[in-house]
This record gives sequence, C-alpha cells and structure tokens, in this order.
Amino acid sequence: RAPPPRPHVVLVASPGAGHLIPMAELARRLVAHHGLAVTLVTFPDVSGAPSAAHSAVLSSLGAAGVSTATLPAVTLDDLPADARLETVLLELIGRSVPHLRSLLRDAAPTLAALVPDFFCSALLPLAAELGVPGYLFFPVNLTTHSVMRTAVELNDDDATAAASGEVVRGLPDVLRLPSGVSLRREDYGDGFRNSEEPVYKHLVEEGRRYRAADGFLVNTFHEIEPAGNVDESIKQVVEEQGTFPPAFPVGPLVRPSSGEDDVSSSACLEWLDRQPAGSVVYVSFGSAGTLSVEQTAELAAGLENSGHRFLWVVRMPSLDGAKTNFAAMDDKDDPLAWLPEGFLERTHSRGLAVAAWAPQVRVLSHPATAAFVSHCGWNSALESVAAGSPMIAWPLYAEQRTNAAVLSENVGVALRLRPRADGLVGREEIAAVVRELMDGEEEMGRAVRRRAGGLREAARRACAPGGSSWRMLEEVAGKWKAAAARRRC
Ligand code: UDP
Repeated sequence: RAPPPRPHVVLVASPGAGHLIPMAELARRLVAHHGLAVTLVTFPDVSGAPSAAHSAVLSSLGAAGVSTATLPAVTLDDLPADARLETVLLELIGRSVPHLRSLLRDAAPTLAALVPDFFCSALLPLAAELGVPGYLFFPVNLTTHSVMRTAVELNDDDATAAASGEVVRGLPDVLRLPSGVSLRREDYGDGFRNSEEPVYKHLVEEGRRYRAADGFLVNTFHEIEPAGNVDESIKQVVEEQGTFPPAFPVGPLVRPSSGEDDVSSSACLEWLDRQPAGSVVYVSFGSAGTLSVEQTAELAAGLENSGHRFLWVVRMPSLDGAKTNFAAMDDKDDPLAWLPEGFLERTHSRGLAVAAWAPQVRVLSHPATAAFVSHCGWNSALESVAAGSPMIAWPLYAEQRTNAAVLSENVGVALRLRPRADGLVGREEIAAVVRELMDGEEEMGRAVRRRAGGLREAARRACAPGGSSWRMLEEVAGKWKAAAARRRC
C-alpha cells in the first residue's frame, strides 16, 4: 500500500525579498528534516523587488520538493496614487483572501497548518475557518517582537482604548525590555516612533490580530538574543510571551551558499577569488535601501580613505531623500554612473562596485570577505553572523535601527556609525570605523571580531540536528502532524 500523503503546510510570504528568502528556507527545512509537504504561496509582484532574484528563489524550491503557487492578481487601481507601500500591501493581502481560501480548500484533506508571515495576519481567520493551526512567521528578532507586544499591551491597559479598539498610547521615550535591552525612541522601528502617525495605529491593529495565532516562528536563535529574551530554558521562551501566543526561535534561516542563484554571481565571486583571505569589506544595503547622492559620495571617499579592499553593491541613489526604493531597476539605470568622478579608476586595484544585486550569502561565506557594512536588515544580519563576519551597522529604515542597537550594544557583533549633525555619515567616520573593525587592536574592533567568530559556531549548532532551533521546529512540526492526524480521524 502507498504510504499516506505527508501532512501539508501552506506558507504565505508577503512581497519583498526579506520575507520570501527566509520563508523559502523554512519551507526547504520543513520538507527535508521534518517530514512535511509544503506549498509556499506568494503574491503577484507589486513592490517591484528584483524579479530575477525572486524567481531564482522560487525555482530553486522545486528541487527541494517544495511546491510553489502565486495568487492571482487583484485590482488595486482604486487606491490613491500616493498610497504608502504598507497600505498597498495590506490591501493586496486583504483582497487576496478569497483566492487563498480556494487554494486552501483544495489542499484541505491533508492540510496541517497555515503559516502566513507577520504582514499577513489578516489571513489567520482562514486557519480557524478550516480548523487547522495558524502560526505567524516573524522574520525579525525577539526585540522587535517585544516592542510590538508592548505597543499592543499599552493600549490594552488603557480601558477606553481596549473597549473601543482605538489606539491612544505611544511607546515611552526609553523602553526597558525584560531582556535587558533598552531602546531609545530613535532606535524604534519607523512605524513605532510616533503614535500620532496612522502607521502606528496599523501596527497596533496588526499586533492585536496576532493573538489569533497559535504561535510564532521567529527567525532567530538563542545566542543572538540578548540574555533574558531567550533564557537557558527553551520552555521559558515559549511560555513567557505575555499576552502574545508562544514564540519559537527557529533560525537562523539562512540559505546554503551552494544553493544560491546565479544572478550576477560570477563577476563578484571571480573577483573575490583573486583577493587575499580576510581582506575585503562587503558593503550592501539590502534589497531596497538607498542613499542620497551626497551620502554615496561620502561612502565612496570613506572606503577609498580606509585603504581596505571592498566589494560594494551600489543601488540607484535617491534624489528625494527617501531611504528606500522598492522599484525594480530599469534596464536603463546605471547606479555606477552616480559614483564620484574617478572613484572607480582610482580604486580599481582593490575595489569592485556592482550594480544592484550580489549573491550575498556566497559573498559573505567567501574566505576573502572579512566584514560587512550593512543596513542591518535582519536577514543580512543573520547571514553575516552565520558566516562569522563582524558588521558595521548603518541602519536606514523599517526596524533596522532596533537591529543595529541590539547588534552593537547587546550582542557585540557590530560597530555603529555615528551620523554628523547634518544627518550624513561622514567619510572620516566611515574610514575610521572600517579600519577599527578590520585591524583595530583596540578593545572594540578585536572584541567584535572575536564575538562574530563565536556566534557563527552557535548559529551552526542551533540549526544542526538536535540544536535548539532544530528542536523547536521539530516540536512545532509535531503539533501540526498531530492536528492533521486528529482531523483525519
Ligand atoms: N540580498 C542579496 N543580494 C543583494 C541584496 C540583498 O542576496 O545584493 C538578499 C540578502 O541576502 C537577504 C535579503 O536579500 O537575504 C535582504 O533581506 P534583509 O532582511 O537583509 O533586508 P531587506 O532587503 O528586507 O531590507
């Protein structure tokens, strides 16, 4: 007799490389190590993330036994032309519920769980409707998770707000979390800084919906969480979540470097092959980070003055001061043309600048790469840690300032750049911090390098069979399988 079909989990990734990439890795692990069948569902592209990279991630999943599906397009023409990206995404997700419902109905006989990411909490009621567990994938760390929970609980504490569903309370100027992390207002993620802005209200509402989940799968691991967020005892982490469902650290979900796509791979890797071991500073601001033209010039001069080798992923500069640009690059765009005059010629013997995208996991794990100037997107931070690279933190948007504060002040794997009074990070600061991280014998550079090396081992252990994150995923997979078995009876 044929074996019974594997219990089936449906993961849903909201648009954006930073959401898709770790969920693809989660899908791969659930199939390879935990005996589940997985479909990874994505939305039609509205953000214009680099589509070659997006398709490469999805097409690599077939070989790993993961099915993929893209939901049909929905109409968004009625939204105002200047609607914020968050609004567009939330509308897209909300309007896609009927399409996802019919996909889930088709999968119903073996459906074991629904796992949308943290942007898609509007999909959780579908799990209840179909009588399966609903878990949220949280692609950032437990500090941001705690900030979210605090914002929700503060508003629950206010009787009027709780009764009316309103959002009236903002976060304090300094937030001391039980983990020992202290965050100042300027360290909060963009949406949490000002309670007067509509985005704060949206975040609290999103957080309130989180309570409908049976748990969170968090892309983190014990040793990268400041003491107290994750205590010695795994049980404590799972149970001490206040009014939120339990959180399971299952990371770092970093794709194996051998499995990475070939988009623009060869130029970077061939160049790295020709550099001495441990000599290159890798510079990248993720899938959407942008710098102004003036800031680009300061960075170029800082790298040049540092005297170190560098590999810089250059994105189109922003001309309006925005720190993000989610639009796909036009074929006509040439970000390298915006670099200061003569920079490429002067540095060609020790620097490489590439346009828009590099095979980051392979770059970070290359023996020539020594350090990472990063915007501190959480995936980038985890990829750096998994490769043992110390970081220079240059946060730009979203929750990156929180990550930068935790990575530099609590975890000790990053040095932080200090902007000047005019908001720009100056060339002297960049050159000095690069030198300190690369060869500083002073306390700071050496300690950060040593800590990054130690954390790489901890990351590897966490995901190896029997490691803390591996066991967490096994525990959750066990709950899903049990639920599927109960539904069959
Ligand atoms: N990435 C990449 N090459 C690039 C830029 C980004 O492979 O040139 C990948 C990176 O490895 C990471 C993801 O895109 O997995 C970016 O996620 P992150 O959370 O770091 O930042 P975001 O782009 O979401 O701000």
